This record gives sequence, C-alpha cells and structure tokens, in this order.
Amino acid sequence: MLTFDHVHFYYKKGQPVVEDVSFTIKAGEFVSIVGANGSGKSTIAKLMDGLLLPKEGTIKLQQLDTSKTADLFEIHQQIGFVFQNPEDQFITTTVMDEVLFGLENIRVPREEMRSRMDHALLAVHMEDYLDSMPHQLSGGQKQRVAIAAILAMRPQIIIFDEATSMLDPQGREQVLYIMHELHLQGMTIIHITHHMEEVLSAERILLIHKGRLQFDGDPLTFFETVPVAEYQLQLPFSVRLHQTLQLEKPISPDWKEGIRSQWP
Ligand code: ADP
Repeated sequence: MLTFDHVHFYYKKGQPVVEDVSFTIKAGEFVSIVGANGSGKSTIAKLMDGLLLPKEGTIKLQQLDTSKTADLFEIHQQIGFVFQNPEDQFITTTVMDEVLFGLENIRVPREEMRSRMDHALLAVHMEDYLDSMPHQLSGGQKQRVAIAAILAMRPQIIIFDEATSMLDPQGREQVLYIMHELHLQGMTIIHITHHMEEVLSAERILLIHKGRLQFDGDPLTFFETVPVAEYQLQLPFSVRLHQTLQLEKPISPDWKEGIRSQWP
C-alpha cells in the first residue's frame, strides 16, 4: 500500500540521510520505525507524505506517486501526522474548534462536521471535553485531541512521530493505548520512536541506522537477533529482565490491562 522503492535522500549533496531504503507497509499494519536520534526516521516520515521528495527512487501510496504534484493533495489527505509537541498543533481555543478547524480547511460539508467531530473525540475518549481549552489539558489529553483532529479528516494512515516523547508515563500509556485501539479498528499505524519499550507490541519493526534499513521483521526476532546497543538503542526493561533471568518465554508486558485499570 505504501511503498518505498530504492529511496535516496540528502539535504546537502554528498551527505546522504536516507540511503537505498525499500519497504512496503500494508493496509492495517502497525509498524514501529526505530533508530537512534539523527538516524533519519523523521526524514523518512516526511518522504512518506511528500513533504520531502526522494533524490532517487520512488514512493507510492497505492497508485499515487509523491513525485507527481497532481497526486500530492490526495496523499496529504490520506496521511495524518501526530508530532512530538501537541501544543505546536493547536490553533484554536477549544477542543471542539480544534477538531472543526481541520474539517473547515478541507471543506467538509457543515452537516457532516458534527458527526465527524463526535466520532473522532469518542475514539480518543475526549467526548466530555468539547468546551475545554486545549492548553489546560494534561499532556496525554492534549495529544489525544491532536489525534482526534487528525482522525476527523479520515486518513488511511497515521504517522506518530515521537508523539509520546514529551509525555509523562500516564500520558504516554494513554497515547499508546489509543494507537492500538485505532489499529484494532483497521487503521494503518506508523509509530516512530527511539523508546524501545514502546515497540514491544508493534506487529513489525523497521530499524534505521545512518539512513539505511538494517532490520525489517517482527519484535521477537528483532530482540533475539539485533545487537541493539550497536545502534545506540537499549533493550526494553522486560526483555533485559527476561534475558537476565534466562526465562524460557518472553515476559509479556501486560500494559493493556494496566492502562484499562487507570483510565481517567
Ligand atoms: P531522526 O528522526 O532519526 O532523529 P532526522 O531524520 O531528523 O533523524 O535527521 C537525520 C539527519 O538529517 C540528521 O543528521 C539531521 O541533522 C539531518 N537533518 C534533519 N533535518 C534537516 C534539515 N532540515 N536540513 C539539514 N539537515 C537536516
């Protein structure tokens, strides 16, 4: 569905940032893109959306091609972004307006706006905060409003670019929970992070190192075979514990139950 075919990119000639990267992400997958700071993850996310164009190779979303100007508008509609700092994304003064603003921009008919907004806020469990001021919410709630604003636009894919990294542990768990709920509803989720705890429950991991794709596979194989320290990454605590205790089965991070019990 989303295909990178031998993609190369640089900001300055002679200093490659993405080198010969190829992969295909299928509809409905939950993919984590991991790698140390500066490895090229955000650049890859911007290439996905056509915000940056490859110097070599092609990037396609189904039949749409980011190198074709005529396709870019549709690609922007199909891919939503959630960034690190939700505050940067807020433009209006209430949660309701925040979600409606994007819908006005893409000229959704007025009679359809309300149902789209209600649906999006329900999906992130923020339906009781319509009149709240986004800036007064907790970090996790702010990020959930930012997600609702994207959801209301009905993209096929949501890219979370380090979207949990500024949040406290509770906020982080809330956002991870929403990501997994959206995935269960059939949405394609791309989660960019350098926090390894967060990738345990992904279906697939892409490891980027110095602009190159070093691993593409499931989390169990990743943690069993990849020497993560060589990529300036740290094994998740539960995996380290499992290895230290030499247990036969990996410890399942029972994070979903944990969040359910403390849901606000
Ligand atoms: P990551 O998301 O993995 O932290 P980035 O994609 O942000 O990595 O950055 C990859 C490399 O590209 C880094 O060396 C970074 O300094 C460089 N870079 C990122 N954005 C720009 C830019 N706008 N201009 C020049 N260099 C950039």
